[in-house]
Amino acid sequence: MIPESINYDSLKRRGFLRQKQDGFFVLRTRRRYGVFESAHLKKLIEISNKFGRGFLHVTTRQGLEIPYIRFEDISVVEADIRASGIETGTSGPRLRTTTCCPGNNWCKSGLINTFTLYDRIENELNIICAMNLPHKFKIVISGCPNTCTRAQQSEIGVHGAVDLSSNEKRIGYALYLGGCGGKTPRLGFKINKIFSEDDVLLIIKQVVKFFEVNAKPKQRLALLIEELGKEKFLKEVGLSGIA
Ligand code: SF4
Repeated sequence: MIPESINYDSLKRRGFLRQKQDGFFVLRTRRRYGVFESAHLKKLIEISNKFGRGFLHVTTRQGLEIPYIRFEDISVVEADIRASGIETGTSGPRLRTTTCCPGNNWCKSGLINTFTLYDRIENELNIICAMNLPHKFKIVISGCPNTCTRAQQSEIGVHGAVDLSSNEKRIGYALYLGGCGGKTPRLGFKINKIFSEDDVLLIIKQVVKFFEVNAKPKQRLALLIEELGKEKFLKEVGLSGIA
């Protein structure tokens, strides 16, 4: 029985999303870099058999979801998966889990270590999935210009690139800002520079902060940029004159 005072938003933030079927919730899980080890998979299969209906669903943000969790089982399931090293995803006006391709860890085309940048965003910037923001906000990292994680279609999209601006060939980070899907889809615009990893981290920090302070509820970054004007936005995040 679900109490009338239930806080659905709190459950959503913790990765339990109300289903269309009364009394049931989808458990949305995530793992850093989208890497689920065999022990994690065994645990999720165990949970889906015991508390769900024996199947999982793979999300577009590299998570695994287990539908048909009953409200009364949420606390047990939540404790179990956290003890197993699996984190929950989120929904609502928050930062989504950062998605990244393998980059140079094992992809032949990879130019940058996508996992390292992922760790630095979480550990050094404290920009972590479920961070409260005015609206949904997505960061993706791709290892090369093939942009398998669709760098152009998220608020912040980073991909590895070769800097050809000088005689010395250098590998760095290209950046797209202001992309999104949904009801008002936009392609992000590319910043006309190849950055160092430290520089790209600083820009991510500035853009997330800018969005946190300036966006209205339910306003994606793309629409905020359109409202303010691109030049003003770029000036505010320290990118004036290079986009
Ligand atoms: S974006 Fe590049 S590095 Fe990443 S998976 Fe695709 S081809 Fe490989």
